[in-house]
Amino acid sequence: MVDKVKKIWIEGEFIDWDEAQLPVLTHSFHYGLGVFEGIRAYKRANGRTAIFRLDAHLERLYDGCRLCMLEPRVTPAQLSEAHLELLRQNQMDEGYMRPMIYIGDGAMGVFPGNNPIKSLIVAWKWGAYLGADALKSGIRTKISSWQRHHINVSIAKGKIMGQYTNSVIAKREAKLGGYDEAILLDTQGYVSEGSGENIFMVKKGVLITPPLSSSILAGITRDTVLTLAREEGIPVSEERITRDQLYLADETFFTGTAAEITPIREVDDRKIGDGKPGPITLRIQKRFFDVVKGSDESHPEWFSYV
Ligand code: PMP
Repeated sequence: MVDKVKKIWIEGEFIDWDEAQLPVLTHSFHYGLGVFEGIRAYKRANGRTAIFRLDAHLERLYDGCRLCMLEPRVTPAQLSEAHLELLRQNQMDEGYMRPMIYIGDGAMGVFPGNNPIKSLIVAWKWGAYLGADALKSGIRTKISSWQRHHINVSIAKGKIMGQYTNSVIAKREAKLGGYDEAILLDTQGYVSEGSGENIFMVKKGVLITPPLSSSILAGITRDTVLTLAREEGIPVSEERITRDQLYLADETFFTGTAAEITPIREVDDRKIGDGKPGPITLRIQKRFFDVVKGSDESHPEWFSYV
């Protein structure tokens, strides 16, 4: 259960959580075309709260709108300030933030006509997405019987509401099967991503992840990890991965705003490496948390202070 906070931002106004309502004919609710983001704010070692990579998240949000031909009436600068003000109004020193750009009510049917393009931001407290133990000990995953969207079936580079039915059915299948998370292959059979995470593997000291020119979301945590790994002198490669390469990996992990850096200890009941988070995974995970939580002061450009 999500604990309510005080205010939700809708269409430029801060509304009490219980008062915030959407019309039942909201077009995006029926047909799923709308774009959203997942963003985290951290309380940093200097005692101040900052949103991590807000600009990158807003860039992806507006790119998603372009891909869907939605024109938000709010500017990135207004939305950026609204995120910071929402944290202030809710007196949150850390948490998860979910901006959404969606098609409002008016016409029905799949052609939305001139329905207004609306926006909201909701924030809530969210701890470790896959559980605190997941970050420490790693998780058990299963290759899904569902595939990731083909690149000509939906808009893989947009974080688009309706596309998440694919994630929900894959995640549900994995959980019902007793696993923590699903790994989806693409329609050509290559490893794509988790239901809400990008995937990495380590083989003989090289960090490998599927390329952006595939069906994956361009994860901001993925980009952060590639940047930090290069700084750490870890060789990186963006290339296609097969299922059997994953089975033979020395290490694997997921990245995501919600999942942060979650080690994977099993794929399809096969232990990865010795079944514990490996040294490169732990090194990247430590550097990531040091950076976001501020004991490592590198990359000040990644933080927007409240
Ligand atoms: N893939 C999918 C399908 C996702 O939903 C997410 C979460 N936004 C990611 C990857 C990871 O992206 P990010 O690191 O930007 O949160």
